[in-house]
Amino acid sequence: MKQIREISQKIDPYSLRLRLTIAVTAVSALSLGSLAIWTSWKMQELLINNHKQNVEEIAQRLPRDVQLYSGMMPSITGLQKAINNLTITNTFLWVKTPNNQVIVKSNNWQQLPNETATELISLGEMSQKPQVKKLDKRYFVIRSGVLPLRDRGLSKLFVVKDVTREQTTFLAMVRNLGIGSVLAVVAISLLAAFYIRQALQPLRQLNQMTSVISITDLGQAKLYLENAPSEVKELAQTFNMMLSRLFQSWEQERQFVSNVSHELRTPLTIVHGYLQSVLRRQNNLTPTQQEALETAAAEAERTIRLLQDLLDLARADSGYLQFQMEICVLNDLIVEVVGMAEKYSDRQITVESTTNRVEAKADYNRLKQVLLNLIDNAVKYSDADTPITIKLHQQEQEAIIQICDQGYGIPLQHQARIFERFYRLDEARSSSTGGSGLGLSIVKTLVESMGGSVTVRSRVATDRQTKSLTQGSTFTITLPIH
Ligand code: ADP
Repeated sequence: MKQIREISQKIDPYSLRLRLTIAVTAVSALSLGSLAIWTSWKMQELLINNHKQNVEEIAQRLPRDVQLYSGMMPSITGLQKAINNLTITNTFLWVKTPNNQVIVKSNNWQQLPNETATELISLGEMSQKPQVKKLDKRYFVIRSGVLPLRDRGLSKLFVVKDVTREQTTFLAMVRNLGIGSVLAVVAISLLAAFYIRQALQPLRQLNQMTSVISITDLGQAKLYLENAPSEVKELAQTFNMMLSRLFQSWEQERQFVSNVSHELRTPLTIVHGYLQSVLRRQNNLTPTQQEALETAAAEAERTIRLLQDLLDLARADSGYLQFQMEICVLNDLIVEVVGMAEKYSDRQITVESTTNRVEAKADYNRLKQVLLNLIDNAVKYSDADTPITIKLHQQEQEAIIQICDQGYGIPLQHQARIFERFYRLDEARSSSTGGSGLGLSIVKTLVESMGGSVTVRSRVATDRQTKSLTQGSTFTITLPIH
């Protein structure tokens, strides 16, 4: 029962395979069924119909014979004579008066068992057309009719032929034909299901090949199927052309972002420099002018950072981002990063680290950039009175750095998406922090390029007033030791 439920759950009612199999089964059932019905009908004609004709002929001829003899002899004797003349093997005749008394019957009744003979004789009015009737495990073609007798009035004539052998053969053939047809339909369906599965295999292969193509291998991706039908090969060809168009447009977009970022960054850096120097000198500036210049400088700095991030991502995408991989002492790196972050944000950052040296293979500056990014987020997305902790430890062959805050947290449905480019949740909350939504995608790109991984675990407090220790986010970076 459980297995049947599992199988039925696995069957996809919309799959091409199921639909084609059902269609083949339906067509074969329909054609084999029609063939079986036609054969049965033909067989019945061959086996039974000539007996029906026989019976009909006798029933039509008897009244004429009786009329002929009745001129020469008493009517009952003439009737008996006519019946005797027309009686052939397995055919039984009898005549009943209107009050159901048998007056004459053929002389071969001893061929029938007594009970059958009694049942036949007791039959009342029957159809005027020959019909097959089962009596006492035997089959008979029966036809009745009216026979006008001179001194007995309108009597009833019965003509019966025993067709037990033919009818049994016919029924056995119909049964065998039925069983044969059902077995043939089952066999055809199984064969069809198997064949259709094989025929659809190239499509499944195509699907698998396409599903593993990622943006990074778009340029080299080529779909090729060796023994596939021409239609599927054509489809693969079309896919290949589409992939190459996608690659070209992806390349153009990347190039565009890279060029624009590069072109904008240089003049903006110069503007920022001038703004800074004017602000430093502060000659004759009114408070309004000073505020305006400070805003302009902050915006310019934010835009330079955004352009730098875009440039880094574009370079990482095209594989041009250079990494100086070396063995870094993470304990020292974290102390340095915390020092920088504290200066910049005025927030207390606690370090929880093992006393042992923890080393990892990474690019020192890039890893610093990653940690600063994550600390910056922890600062931005938590209240000023909540602690930020950096933990460091080693687990087997991996170094693990965790940046924990007790801030607002990230709802579960956003956790998988925050590493996407430009993805920011809760615009109202994020806009005040001045981010661009690129920070975490840079973190992920850099960490993965160094052979590590980054994950997030976060909890949102339902009641903002109750700040518990379980509330907040923890970003975990895992780096290989060697
Ligand atoms: P942004 O420049 O907006 O900070 P990020 O890529 O760094 O962009 O982060 C993406 C989004 O993830 C942010 O907009 C923020 O909503 C959320 N986020 C990141 N870090 C944290 C954190 N420590 N606590 C809560 N939310 C966070």
